[in-house]
Amino acid sequence: MPLLVMKFGGTSVADLARIRNAAEKVRREVERGYDVIVIVSAMSGKTNELVGWVEATSPMFDAREYDAVVSAGENVTAGLMALTLQEMDVPARSWQGWQVPIQTTSAHSAARFIDIPRAHIDAKFAEGFKVAVVAGFQGVSPEGRITTLGRGGSDTTAVAFAAAFDAERCDIYTDVDGVYTTDPRIVGRARKLDKIAFEEMLELASLGAKVLQTRSVELAMRYKVRLRVLSSFEDTDHNSGTLVCDEDEIMESKVVSGVAYSRDEAKMTLLRVADRPGVAAAIFGPLSDAGVNVDMIIQNISEEGFTDMTFSCPTNQVMRAEKAIAEGSAAGAFVYDKVVVDDAVAKISVVGIGMRSHAGVAATMFKALAAENINIKVITTSEIKISVLIDRKYMELAVQALHDAFGLEKAA
Ligand code: ASP
Ligand code: MG
Repeated sequence: MPLLVMKFGGTSVADLARIRNAAEKVRREVERGYDVIVIVSAMSGKTNELVGWVEATSPMFDAREYDAVVSAGENVTAGLMALTLQEMDVPARSWQGWQVPIQTTSAHSAARFIDIPRAHIDAKFAEGFKVAVVAGFQGVSPEGRITTLGRGGSDTTAVAFAAAFDAERCDIYTDVDGVYTTDPRIVGRARKLDKIAFEEMLELASLGAKVLQTRSVELAMRYKVRLRVLSSFEDTDHNSGTLVCDEDEIMESKVVSGVAYSRDEAKMTLLRVADRPGVAAAIFGPLSDAGVNVDMIIQNISEEGFTDMTFSCPTNQVMRAEKAIAEGSAAGAFVYDKVVVDDAVAKISVVGIGMRSHAGVAATMFKALAAENINIKVITTSEIKISVLIDRKYMELAVQALHDAFGLEKAA
């Protein structure tokens, strides 16, 4: 039997009517001849409610009990989905993580998969069951405790099952109808992409396009799982939505596929750092130990043995970063004059695998920003991406200008 994985996010299973609507989509695939593994999220808002209860009960909570509580939302949806399918005469059975068992590391609330053994679910399909409904976001540790994968983790559960069961495809049903060239709320003419390469999606996912959990895309890329993002609120068929796939499957693509942005960035500069071997390690070591997610880094040319060091990080980590810098310097690791913080910047990126073989993308980008009088504060590049930091107040304007400059409203 060909097998599909179908994942439904929180808004797609928000109430009993929506669970029925999702179950209807599952039934249609069963009628087409598929065995289906359905991965469900908690009904929307449930996980937040459970997290709130844990925090209100115990501010310094035991991570094992946090996972015991927050994993419960998915269990409810899995049972309800199986019941709904049964009411439609589709033979279905629900599975909590430990029943499969979905084996993970014991890193509570940030667990990673170790193995997903197929035997139990395969045996149920062999008995004549058509659907296995699996609770997303959870697993079981080697110690036998319930674990969770980190927020948004059901996407990753879905991809892992698609890999483990050699699924024809992994369909991610959500509240948007696909992946767009940029955020349609900012650019009305943003276009839904039919296909996007894993690497591009990875850049867009980690740059703040919130459709898919970044780890799920990493996993899909590693195991070459064809991933489709589509709406659970529309009539859909096997061509709907956006297919995230290997770049070989994409015949024609533009040089730039999308424009991503990240609103809450901060730029921090350490002035007059004594420039000597080991100074970068001395600064960024404590920042990393403090859990600061440093993104862009620039070191200026040095004069008379001193230099300036600039980096960016999320706005809500500025205080943590300042503390780590002060403590690192007090411990004698490095000296500097002062720290200048600009916490009103945004990061804008253009992404596309076509950049590997096309020159001039940076020039087009900089010209488009210059034409709008937008000053660029920091630039970084990779093989398939160019990112700039600019004043946050120009973020929307910059996204619009770049979307136009690269002609993204038109298909390739
Ligand atoms: N319910 C979990 C969350 O809200 C996992 C998920 O839905 O992917 O983060
Ligand atoms: Mg999600």
